[in-house]
Amino acid sequence: MLPRLRLATGLLFTACFATVALVGCGEPEVDAASDDVTAQRMYSFVDVNPDAPLSAAAKKKLQGALAKLDRVAQRGKSPLRRALAAETLARIEAGDVLLGSIAGARGIDRWHMCKDYALPACEGEAPAADDRSWLGDDELGAFLERELDGYQWGNRLYFTIQSSTDVDALAVTLVHEVNHVLNRSECSYYADLDAHEVDGDLAFVEEYRAFLSECYFAKDTSATLEACSASALARVSEYGLDYDLTRVLPGGSDDPELLAELVLDAEEGDDAPFGRLVPREEDWPGAFGACDAR
Ligand SMILES: [Zn+2]
Repeated sequence: MLPRLRLATGLLFTACFATVALVGCGEPEVDAASDDVTAQRMYSFVDVNPDAPLSAAAKKKLQGALAKLDRVAQRGKSPLRRALAAETLARIEAGDVLLGSIAGARGIDRWHMCKDYALPACEGEAPAADDRSWLGDDELGAFLERELDGYQWGNRLYFTIQSSTDVDALAVTLVHEVNHVLNRSECSYYADLDAHEVDGDLAFVEEYRAFLSECYFAKDTSATLEACSASALARVSEYGLDYDLTRVLPGGSDDPELLAELVLDAEEGDDAPFGRLVPREEDWPGAFGACDAR
């Protein structure tokens, strides 16, 4: 199925680095790093696995991406753009989101990576949701490092950051992935979670919302509902999901712009039937254990 594209679940964000330039959207770069206090600041983040942490080179790239978030938080013109940048940075600096290397992934997260490729190492019962030691077999580590540029499960984000990774693109990826964490996308993505069988309708909503957040972050005053809906739709179409919005949207609508409107409406009120864009502390999940049964 989808692993052919290395985009198997959206929770795999392999293609983000390569394709993220598409959402650059031609906005003039008003928040460049020159003569900037953010260029000297060090940003804190919590490594998922201190025993096998991100490399020094990867950490440097991350510092660049976090500085980008900081600059947009301070200088973005659109309040939504500033909020996405500020709150994504705040969740990372607070350790609400943990960052790590693919090589350092252990336990249930490594098992889920394995399961997406249906490898022999993860046949049979899953480890517990709080397992942080499962390693699989000898081949698994090399396979995952070769195949995966990124992965999200719960509040953990794993990367294989290359010397070619663009820090602005990495900042966009962080906005996208932290949106998945905010909405616990891994719990609303599968028809059968244990078997990793994707539900196209549910996965569409999770990816569409995450790509909307990318668009509202990457564009500034040109981020209209129409433009960002079109951008998100184009990006999700790369996933080849089998979906039907009439099964999801009110009134049997099949209009993706209605979904964008409903997601934006949630920024103004308590009700968020299709999740939220901005990862504010008050909306943050209380825990990241096993998903509730659906
Ligand atoms: Zn995604």
